[in-house]
Amino acid sequence: MVDIELETTYLNSKNVGQYVYGVGSLKSLESILASRRNSSSGVVIFLVDGYFEHNDHLLKKLPVNDHDRLIFVSVSSEPTTTYVNALLKKIVSTTKGQKNLAVVGIGGGSTLDVAKAISNLLTNGGCAEDYQGWDLVRVPGVYKIGVPTLSGTGAEASRTCVMINKENGKKLGMNSEYTVFDQLILDPDLTATVPENQYFYSGMDTWIHCVEALKGSYRHPIGDAFSNQAIGLCREVFDSNEMMSDSNRGKLMVASYLGGSAIANSYVGVVHPFSAGLSVVLNLPHCLANCVTMMAMEPYYPKEYGEFRTFIDRNEIVLPRDVCQGLSDAQFDALYRATIVHEKPLTNALGTGFSSEMTKTRVRELFERM
Ligand code: NAD
Ligand code: ZN
Repeated sequence: MVDIELETTYLNSKNVGQYVYGVGSLKSLESILASRRNSSSGVVIFLVDGYFEHNDHLLKKLPVNDHDRLIFVSVSSEPTTTYVNALLKKIVSTTKGQKNLAVVGIGGGSTLDVAKAISNLLTNGGCAEDYQGWDLVRVPGVYKIGVPTLSGTGAEASRTCVMINKENGKKLGMNSEYTVFDQLILDPDLTATVPENQYFYSGMDTWIHCVEALKGSYRHPIGDAFSNQAIGLCREVFDSNEMMSDSNRGKLMVASYLGGSAIANSYVGVVHPFSAGLSVVLNLPHCLANCVTMMAMEPYYPKEYGEFRTFIDRNEIVLPRDVCQGLSDAQFDALYRATIVHEKPLTNALGTGFSSEMTKTRVRELFERM
């Protein structure tokens, strides 16, 4: 038996300060920034997903002034503490003596997380790894604005920013109320160019998180309400004939926001620990790893497994299979350790006796089904 306490106190939850929603709403970024520029001089730091580096359609809409900084974020792999530290150094060295008016993150979950981390580090000092954990950020970051261009992770709404620390192998965020965006701009126009498989994998992150939360033993009425709404919207999107239609991209953007808002009041379950194993040991990106894991989850989420298979078939999604074929015993051991370390979600799903269910043999058998 593992002695794990799930939250029993009254949580004091924080959600995003303000948001604008609607097709074309990116244009409101100018007036939102104007109110900050009018009250003080200084620079705005735009951190934009590298995908948009040559995308004039988006770039010409950004209100970047001469003295602002526009930096493209490398998203070829998920954010590391080393990457965030190097980016911070570059920003600090080119903005010396100037006031930072705002950090604007425009992109998928990776870019939004980098923007949140940079905003916190600019006011707190030190380096990214100093704040990986719970409530370690001391003072509010620079005013943060999030503009998602990919829906699903809920990074736009959550109180964390996930980074991989290659030194100690930890994948952990700055869990803090200071990490929450002050302002969001939710413009479904921005997700039109997302490749279909990516759109599906990321969208499923919201659905999977909410399924795990609602099937767990820890419950929070507000978390449940966010999760139920998010699941309903995901169903409308992925059960339809065209998951990326204009209206469905709008629905998924709302689902992602609601799913992200639910995270503060919920725990995940069996899927995320296994998915983390795949990310840490085999470098699979988070959202893809969740989907790969779902293919082995029939014993724990039978109804949802069936629904997931229907989503995959209906949307003709290509999912890598047999990802653990040919792995060595040492790699299976590493997968086991990277999974079982997530005690809270496993307790939420299976109870404090989860380790008698999740033996080394059982965990290996599940990975072999993926
Ligand atoms: P991502 O940000 O890693 O982006 C995936 C790919 O999509 C990239 O190649 C990116 O350039 C591309 N892309 C983004 N927007 C696009 C657009 N409009 N058109 C074309 N291509 C576009 O993917 P993601 O799934 O959004 O984020 C994954 C990250 O989010 C992981 O690092 C994960 O750990 C993190 N995450 C964070 C939280 C949180 O609460 N902070 C929660 C879950 C996951
Ligand atoms: Zn997730």
